[in-house]
Amino acid sequence: MSEAEELLALLVDHLQDGVWLLDADSAAIVEVSRSGSVQVGSRASTLLETNFCSLIEPEMTSEAWQLLLAQIPTAGSHTLAVGIRSAIGYVQAVDLTLTRDHSCGHQHERILAITRSQIPEADLSGAQRPELTGDLETLLDATLEALGEGVAILDQLGRVEKANSAFLELVDLQQSLVLDHSMFDPPWIWQSVQGDFIEIEDTPPVQALRTGKAQRLEHVQLRGNGLNRTLGDLISVEVTCEPLLGEDKTLRGAVLVLSDLTALVQSVGHREQIEATDPLTSLRSRHHITAQVDAAVRSAERNPSDPDDARVGVLHVDLDDFRSVNDTFGTAFGDEVLIAVADRLRDLTERHIEIGRVGVDEFLVVITGNDASLSFDTRLRRLAEELQRRIEQPLVVEGLELRLTASVGISRYPANASDGATLVRAADTALAASRREGRHQVRFFESSLDKRGRTGLALDRDLRLAAAQRNLQVYYQPIIDLKSGAVTGAEALVRWNHPEHGPIPPSIFIPDAEATGAISAISDMVVTTVAEDLAGWNEQSLLKAGSRIAINISATEFEQRGFVQRLAATLNNVGVLPSQLELEITETLLMRDVEVTAQRLSDLHELGFLVSLDDFGTGYSSLSHLHMLPLHTLKVDRCFVSELGDGRSQTITRAILNLAQGLGIHTVGEGVETEDQRRFLIEAGCDSVQGFLYAPPLPRLAFEKFMKNHRPVSALAV
Ligand code: C2E
Ligand code: CA
Ligand code: CA
Repeated sequence: MSEAEELLALLVDHLQDGVWLLDADSAAIVEVSRSGSVQVGSRASTLLETNFCSLIEPEMTSEAWQLLLAQIPTAGSHTLAVGIRSAIGYVQAVDLTLTRDHSCGHQHERILAITRSQIPEADLSGAQRPELTGDLETLLDATLEALGEGVAILDQLGRVEKANSAFLELVDLQQSLVLDHSMFDPPWIWQSVQGDFIEIEDTPPVQALRTGKAQRLEHVQLRGNGLNRTLGDLISVEVTCEPLLGEDKTLRGAVLVLSDLTALVQSVGHREQIEATDPLTSLRSRHHITAQVDAAVRSAERNPSDPDDARVGVLHVDLDDFRSVNDTFGTAFGDEVLIAVADRLRDLTERHIEIGRVGVDEFLVVITGNDASLSFDTRLRRLAEELQRRIEQPLVVEGLELRLTASVGISRYPANASDGATLVRAADTALAASRREGRHQVRFFESSLDKRGRTGLALDRDLRLAAAQRNLQVYYQPIIDLKSGAVTGAEALVRWNHPEHGPIPPSIFIPDAEATGAISAISDMVVTTVAEDLAGWNEQSLLKAGSRIAINISATEFEQRGFVQRLAATLNNVGVLPSQLELEITETLLMRDVEVTAQRLSDLHELGFLVSLDDFGTGYSSLSHLHMLPLHTLKVDRCFVSELGDGRSQTITRAILNLAQGLGIHTVGEGVETEDQRRFLIEAGCDSVQGFLYAPPLPRLAFEKFMKNHRPVSALAV
C-alpha cells in the first residue's frame, strides 16, 4: 500500500459513514469499512462476498438493483433513503449514496456505496434521547456510578452507549475505547473457564439482542479489545444481558452487567482454584495448562508479526521409568519425588514459562515468543536440556539417593499445528517417539512421525524387531591405501533383508529410522556387531596395525546425550580400542550447532576415536570451520569421483584434496569404479579409495576372505 492509500484506508476506517465497494453486476460486497460492518453488526470477513441487496430492507431484488444502477450517472452520484438490516435483524434508516468507481481498470465495474445514518451519531448519545431526558438521565448516571458491578448500555447494534466506571475498570479499557464501539467488531475475546473460545454469536449480548430474551453466563473469561495486552489479562466474570425495550415495546438495546469473579477465583480453597493447580505439586493443573496453550496460540495468531507473541513451543516432559520408583518404594515415596521434581522446575515460571502437571509423572511446559539472538528451536532444545539437567541432578528423598532421567517431546506453533489441542497432541507424538529411543531423549515433532503413526507402523515395527534380533546385516567395504595398495580398513554399511519386501537399501530405511527414532536401535546393533567382529579379527591378526573400521553416524544419534559414553562402553565390553573405529559424520551436522558439535567431537577425540567427514562437498559447511575441528579423515563424495571426466569436477576434487592436505587431514575418494578415476586420484594426491573397482560392500565372511587374498599393488607399479 502506498502512503496515500494507507492514509485513505485509515480515514475510511474512522468515518462514521459506512463505506462499501460493490461489484456492479452482482452487488456482491468486495470491501467494507469498519464503520460499515459496525453499522450492520457483522464482522467484515462475514460480509465479504455476501450480497449487499440482502442487507437492504425491504430486500432488494436483483431487478431492482439493476434499475437502481441505471440511475447512477457516469459522473456524479445517486442518493436514496433505504433501511439497512443488521445481523440481529434491527433495521436502521440510512441515506445510501451510490457512485461509479473509475479509479482502476477492474474487469468488472465497481460501485462505491456510502451508508449514512439518518439519525446523526451525536443524537444517539445526546440529551434529546426520547427515553431518557433531563433529570432522569442524571439520576441514571449517578445510579450506575454507585454500582459495584460493571454496567454498560448497548444500542441495537451492540455499540456501547454508556458504561459506568466499574465496567471500564473491570475490562481495563479507557472510556474512549469503549464508548460508541461495538462489542462485536472487532469482537471482544470470550472464553469459557476451560479456555474454549466462545463464538461471538453465542455471547450474551448478541443472544439478547437477537432473541429479545435475557441471557446469563455464570462464569466466563473476557478480554476487551483495543489495548495491546498479553496473556493472563482475561478477567473472570459472571455475565447477564437484559434486553431493553422502548416505550413502543420494540428492542432498543440491552443492559450488560459484568460481575467480577476474580476475587472469588483467587480465594484459597475455591473450587476453581483447586482446578487451576495440581494439588500435589501446585504446578498448574492439566486443564489449566492446556487452556494456556490455547490462549498462547490464539494470541500468537492475532499478532503474527509480533516477535514476542508469534511463536509457541510446547514441551511434554516424562520421567523415564517412574513406575519402578512407585513399585519399589510405594506411592507415598513417589509423591515425595514428584514434589521434589516440581520444586526444581517451579522457578522457570519467573521466565514466563508455564508449567503444568498433566499425568502422574508428566509435565507440560509452554513457552512463547522469541529471542532475536537464538533460533526458536535452539531455545526450545536448550530449555529441554535444562529441564533434563534439573530433573537428573541426584535427588535425596527419605535418605535415599535417586537418579532420574527424563524424555522430552517438543512441538511448536505455527510449524506443527494451528490450534492448541493439535499442538499439545503433537508434543505427545514427539514424546512417544522420544520414549521409543530409550531414556533421556529430546525429540521434535515432525510430520513424518504423524504419518508413521498411521501408516508406517508395520515397517517401523519390523525394523526395530530386525535390529533387536540382529536381523540386519553389517557389510564391510574395503578401503585401500593408494600408495601401498594395502587394505587399511573398511566402511561398515548396514543391510536389511526384509522377510517380505526383500533387500531394502539403507538410503530408504535410514531416513525413516531417523524420523521414528528406530535409528538408535540400528546404531546400537551396528556398533555392537562391528565391535565383536573387530575383536575377532584382532585375535586372528587379520587387520594390519593402524587399520580402522568406519561406522556411519546419523546426526540425530550424534546429538543424543550419552552417545559417546554408550559407544565407549560397547567397545570396552569386547576389549576393542576406540582408535580402531572411525566415526563418519556428515556435513549437515556442522551446519547445525557448531558449538555443540565441536564439543562432542573433542570429547570423542579425547577418548581416542577418529572422526571423518563423509560426503564432503555436498553440503554447505564452511571450510573455515574445518581447521577448528579435530577431523582425521575427509571423504570426497562419490558425485565428484564419478564425474572426474568433467573438468569442473576435477577442479573441485583437486581443491578439496589440497585443502585437506594443507590441514593435515587424511583423504578417501568414495565410489571409485574405474582405473581412470583411480589414476586421477593418485596423481591429485588422494590418500585412500573405496569403490567397486576393488570391492563392493561384502558380508563378514567374504570380507575376511578378501583380506586374506588381497595382494597389495603399489601405486608406484602403475
Ligand atoms: P555412504 O556413507 O556415502 O556410503 C557409501 C555408499 O556408496 C554405500 O551405499 C556403498 O554401497 C556405495 N558405494 C560404495 N562404492 C561404490 C561404487 O563404486 N559405486 C557406487 N555406485 N556406489 C558405491 P549404501 O550401502 O547403499 O549406503 C547408503 C547410505 O546409507 C550410506 O552412504 C550412509 O549414509 C547410509 N548408511 C549405511 N549404513 C549405515 C549405518 O550403519 N548407519 C547410518 N547412520 N547410516 C548408514
Ligand atoms: Ca559413509
Ligand atoms: Ca559417503
